[in-house]
Amino acid sequence: MKYQIAIIGGGPAGYTAAETAGKAGLSVVLFEKRILGGVCLNEGCIPTKTLLYSAKTYDSARHASKYAVNVSEVSFDLPKIIARKQKVVRKLVLGVKGKLTANNVTIVNGEASIVDKNHILCGDETYECDNLLLCTGSETFIPPIPGIDTVPYWTHRDALDNKEFPRSLVVIGGGVIGMEFASFFNSLGVEVTVIEMLDEILGGMDKELSAMLRAEYAKRGIKFMLNTKVVSLDGSAGENGETQVRVNYENAEGTGFSVAEKLLMSVGRRPVTKGLGLENLNPEKTERGNIRVDGQMRTSVTGVYACGDLTGFSLLAHTAVREAEVAVHAVLGKKDCMSYRAIPGVVYTNPEIAGVGDTEEALQKKGIPYRTVKLPMAYSGRFVAENEGVNGMCKLLLAEDDTVLGAHVLGNPASEIITLAGMAVELKLTAAEWKKIVFPHPTVGEIFKEAL
Ligand SMILES: Cc1cc2nc3c(=O)[nH]c(=O)nc-3n(C[C@H](O)[C@H](O)[C@H](O)COP(=O)(O)OP(=O)(O)OC[C@H]3O[C@@H](n4cnc5c(N)ncnc54)[C@H](O)[C@@H]3O)c2cc1C
Repeated sequence: MKYQIAIIGGGPAGYTAAETAGKAGLSVVLFEKRILGGVCLNEGCIPTKTLLYSAKTYDSARHASKYAVNVSEVSFDLPKIIARKQKVVRKLVLGVKGKLTANNVTIVNGEASIVDKNHILCGDETYECDNLLLCTGSETFIPPIPGIDTVPYWTHRDALDNKEFPRSLVVIGGGVIGMEFASFFNSLGVEVTVIEMLDEILGGMDKELSAMLRAEYAKRGIKFMLNTKVVSLDGSAGENGETQVRVNYENAEGTGFSVAEKLLMSVGRRPVTKGLGLENLNPEKTERGNIRVDGQMRTSVTGVYACGDLTGFSLLAHTAVREAEVAVHAVLGKKDCMSYRAIPGVVYTNPEIAGVGDTEEALQKKGIPYRTVKLPMAYSGRFVAENEGVNGMCKLLLAEDDTVLGAHVLGNPASEIITLAGMAVELKLTAAEWKKIVFPHPTVGEIFKEAL
């Protein structure tokens, strides 16, 4: 059968494109080789946040006395935490499937391979299409550290399904994924060490707030090693003969090693460009190996689009979703253009940290003059009511004409309030224009109004 759009990959980019196109009345076929929902739903955004919510609930119960609530015995059950995570994932995957079916999308379970831009092979069948959307996402990058093949290590997939508790964990890579897992295991009492090659965790987020978050987690027992390069890995036996991993590193102080029961590799992700017959299209790529696209998500091959992690812009589900909408609008001939001006970035630690627009570091690099407004989160009454003994920070970056260039927040619920700032950045509001918006009181979001 011939389809107006064929989509390879059923993650946020692929399923959003399929739903949008189906809703618009186009005939759509979607290929997914693993599970509908992609990384985000099955092994990324949703499962990590489900686990982190259990950890947060456990933390809250342990510290309930701060709010004059007595909880006598607090404990957790890891297998049940994992089982709940699986239940949440299953429910959401079914939801995605339901939406696609309701919009007449043909879902094909299998690995798709491009024959040419109008023909896709999956199993024994060849599918014909007018337009092709590449949404194959990204996969964990495992660096070629000497010894990596000789030691057992976790990727995020293993860490998400692990039902036995390690006493100690070394996380290589202090980015978002590394820090979310470090936070989860730290909350549940595991001895955690984070080794990061750069001079701060959470590269890409506001550096000052990242340092504040690191200081908070250091107080809770996480050991951070910054500016530290892992040079090799080997196994060693623990006191009771159990297998341990030895992580050998070097930094300004010389060489050393860290030993732990488990090792989590979280140094980054790379685009999935292999195994799908991309060589039969040969689209232009970026220096980093991502598919190059324009503002309408068009690749260098006419009629072929790419969206999501494959394009390498931000490796975030919400970017993938918006890119997919733009691509389908391009197919439909609707005027639309992708904007990366205000993509929020969130780290779901406890407290959360979130940012949108430029960071100070980015503005300095671009040579754009700006002024900074900083305010402790305690200026929000609601924040004080709900965060006993905790503080945080809100930082706004304003251009010379007072246009909002960026906003950064450390404190709960940063993930929920950052969109307010995202709208101001995207719409290029000035401080005075943003300040005219009425915020409900008392809310944590009022912190922006206070800062303005
Ligand atoms: C641990 C972790 C936590 C994360 N947390 C967040 C978060 O909190 N918020 C956030 O915004 N982002 C988060 N992300 C990132 C987010 O998951 C990705 O940005 C998002 O999934 C990208 O969507 P995508 O559709 O581009 O690709 P993917 O979700 O990777 O989906 C691509 C799909 O294509 C399929 N595929 C590939 N090749 C073929 C083929 N040849 N034939 C058929 N199917 C194929 C794959 O099986 C996969 O299902 C997280 C990622 C990880 C790993």
